[in-house]
Amino acid sequence: MTTTRLLTPEEIALRAGQDFARLRLPEGDVFAQRALRLRQLAAGHAMRDYLMFIAQLAEAQDRALHAFPAVPLPTTAQIEAAAQHGQPVLATAAWPRDAAWQRSLHVLLDELLPRLPADSPARATVHAVRALPAEALEKQADRLLAGVMLGLDFAAAPLIGAGLQVYFTHLVRATQAAHAAGASGPDNAPASSAWGHPRDATRCPCCGSLPTASLTRIGADAEGYRYLHCALCNAQWHMVRVKCTHCESTQGIHYQSLQAVADTASAPQETVQAETCDTCGHYLKIVRMNKDPHAEPVADDLATLTLDLLVSESGMQRHGVNLMLLFGESEGEGEGEAPRR
Ligand SMILES: [Zn+2]
Ligand SMILES: [Zn+2]
Repeated sequence: MTTTRLLTPEEIALRAGQDFARLRLPEGDVFAQRALRLRQLAAGHAMRDYLMFIAQLAEAQDRALHAFPAVPLPTTAQIEAAAQHGQPVLATAAWPRDAAWQRSLHVLLDELLPRLPADSPARATVHAVRALPAEALEKQADRLLAGVMLGLDFAAAPLIGAGLQVYFTHLVRATQAAHAAGASGPDNAPASSAWGHPRDATRCPCCGSLPTASLTRIGADAEGYRYLHCALCNAQWHMVRVKCTHCESTQGIHYQSLQAVADTASAPQETVQAETCDTCGHYLKIVRMNKDPHAEPVADDLATLTLDLLVSESGMQRHGVNLMLLFGESEGEGEGEAPRR
């Protein structure tokens, strides 16, 4: 069935040939903003303790990002080669991680530990990750970045993911600063040549990771435009609305929210909805800043876990990942789910 619908603001802009930022690079306060939002959402929430733990982790990430040492960045030759092959410059499968990410993670964990409540179950996990030999830590990082659930330590994953987020967020920001023409310009100037135009629109143009959620933005430069938020490096890339973020179909897209299920007669536009696709059976949450200007993709995704449970009951599979809360069958159980793409 086809339905007639109004053009979205970005479709109008695209047709008119207007320019807008197709890529929004991570801001320096991304983790601080996330921590604020998590603390706000944690009040009275059923998952309060977990949200507060992730808030503390995000605060530690903020400190780690600002203290991150200089690391090797992609060269002009590497940037050109990536552009030629339509690949992200910092594709996680190919980029050689500098050992600095492990040292940064260790400092982050050492700072986090004394701030955790004495009875926090996370304390033991922090100790365990802190004690991991370098090689084992790299192996866990490989699995996490490739979406391989087999052999992945699910308890340790948010902590290791936090360290990787800091490293890749730093890499993207430092690469932009080093390679953008007129590097003194604002962070979110129209996409610089450093990032090219990778072929796969469903993955981050900077690092090739999956999104955590999509976000409709507010503000004069992006009012109503929809961006996908990278689960790893926090870059946001544009995708028109009402389009599947997994198979890019524009047919059979539906929206589900928690309240709409309780009262099917009315479907209020809530801050977070699940955008589901009949064509491929996947969904990704969409976070609407016009409903709440403080909304933040990673925080709001964590705080709406119930929506995932609801949507997955109807057989929909999640496209995208939140490194702070992984879904997947534990080893040796379930139907042997194929590794995530
Ligand atoms: Zn990314
Ligand atoms: Zn689809």
